[in-house]
Amino acid sequence: MGSLPLKKLVSFLTSELGLSEFPRDESANGLQVEGSRSVRKIGLAVDACDYVFNKAAEQQVDFLLVHHGLVWGGIRAVTGILRKRIKLLLDHDISLYACHLPLDWHPEYGNNAQLRSLLGLSRAGEFGEYHGKRIGCHGRLNKEMALNDFILRVDKRLGTTSRSIDFGRKVKNVGIVSGGGWSALYDAECHDIDTFLTGEPSHSAYTLAEELKINLIFAGHYATETAGVRAVGAMLTKKFPIETAFIDHPTGL
Ligand SMILES: [Zn+2]
Repeated sequence: MGSLPLKKLVSFLTSELGLSEFPRDESANGLQVEGSRSVRKIGLAVDACDYVFNKAAEQQVDFLLVHHGLVWGGIRAVTGILRKRIKLLLDHDISLYACHLPLDWHPEYGNNAQLRSLLGLSRAGEFGEYHGKRIGCHGRLNKEMALNDFILRVDKRLGTTSRSIDFGRKVKNVGIVSGGGWSALYDAECHDIDTFLTGEPSHSAYTLAEELKINLIFAGHYATETAGVRAVGAMLTKKFPIETAFIDHPTGL
């Protein structure tokens, strides 16, 4: 396996993942911590945290791409937990690269598009405007299914335990917004969506879904956001002669 200059990798990712599509994302997308100038092994993870950084160091990762980075809206001081986390990265010469909203939205590597194909749905369209983009996607089953059967499929394919609320519809056209995306429900009606899948449960979603008669599935924030980083890892191994490793740290939430 070879190595790659850090600069080259960063500029490739920034263009390939469409970072410029979300200029107002609260996450400072892109390179957040600069480590080794030459990259030999790339780690992929959902969250930037001690556990993941230690695993990355153990596995000799020198470039870590995450969905939830360390820098949100700017840094006021490098103290406490932030100091500890940044120190851990710098001590091991590990770069940290974050890709938040672009990795939910991306038509190919995005969490939502990846979930749609993982769940065996054919592409029907995009919905759920957020930061000026339709961030969610919806897809159709070949044949409608009972909600319970569809949930079994979700749990099996995502390795999760979903919570769901049945508002009496059969499952045929499923809207997907990973993470904490419940508010896209407002847009679901216009797209004839019968079942809405997101990560985190939200109290506010209940009455809205009840009135729209749309079933709800909460499959977990973590479980709905691993597919994007995994897809980026697979793309990078195809594109470059470099080793990658997915660092799993499920929260069950
Ligand atoms: Zn998230």
